[in-house]
Amino acid sequence: MSHVIAVANQKGGVGKTTTAINLAASLAALKRRVLLVDLDAQGNATMGVGVDKAELEHTARDVLLEQVSMTDAIQTLAELNLSVLPANSDMTEAEIKLRDIAVGDFALKTALADVAERFDYVILDCPPALSKLTINALVAADGVLIPMQCEYYALEGLSALVDTIQKIRRIINPRLEIEGLLRTMYDPRNNLAIDVSNQLIQHFGDRVYRTLVPRNVRLAEAPSHGLPAMRYDPASTGAKAYLALAGEVLKRHRDAARRATA
Ligand code: ADP
Ligand code: MG
Repeated sequence: MSHVIAVANQKGGVGKTTTAINLAASLAALKRRVLLVDLDAQGNATMGVGVDKAELEHTARDVLLEQVSMTDAIQTLAELNLSVLPANSDMTEAEIKLRDIAVGDFALKTALADVAERFDYVILDCPPALSKLTINALVAADGVLIPMQCEYYALEGLSALVDTIQKIRRIINPRLEIEGLLRTMYDPRNNLAIDVSNQLIQHFGDRVYRTLVPRNVRLAEAPSHGLPAMRYDPASTGAKAYLALAGEVLKRHRDAARRATA
């Protein structure tokens, strides 16, 4: 069975796609079988692993609308030891059509069931809205990983997301947990960032990952080369941070499994 992690935050530009790509690549480097699912019409995760979004035969849209099987739409990237379900601007259509389907919130969950034995981890890159696609992700996920910039309004936006997570847990998906909160683009010299970070730890305790992702230009450059940071510049602070995050994600799961059997 795969463990499904939705990388979500309805704010744009907080590092969701960067996190999805680099966490997926780092878990793959640690020998896990990983599927990266692009749920955003911008197709940034698709491009970020070197797949041309303009040249796609099948996309996540086709899978969500049940026109193509997950197996047929997934691309295997042997170089990265990673698989990707790509997306592009036709995702907008899926978003609209899913609203008219009675069980439209379950489309992704249903599709992922077909490949549950093939992958250890499925990483979902969500769009910057609490849209049907993000709801699909939260219904399909075991955990939500919330990337956030430690800025003034960050905590305010967080409460809307946490409310949605709680609603989905109550109504549809009782398994859903907050996988963790990730501080991104972190600048330790910025007093406001330190302040917001402390508030975050007060609210969420050990749900906040110890790994801090620093602001690092390599993380911003890598996608234009179609590479995760660990391939573009493995020595960069950004690449190292995401490898540490993958280690932390794996450790949390080992600890949770141990608690479950104890
Ligand atoms: P989202 O998917 O939440 O909209 P992105 O991951 O696309 O956010 O990040 C927004 C922008 O910030 C992108 O240009 C990305 O390259 C850049 N970026 C993300 N994380 C970092 C980081 N840690 N350091 C520097 N730039 C970053
Ligand atoms: Mg994005």
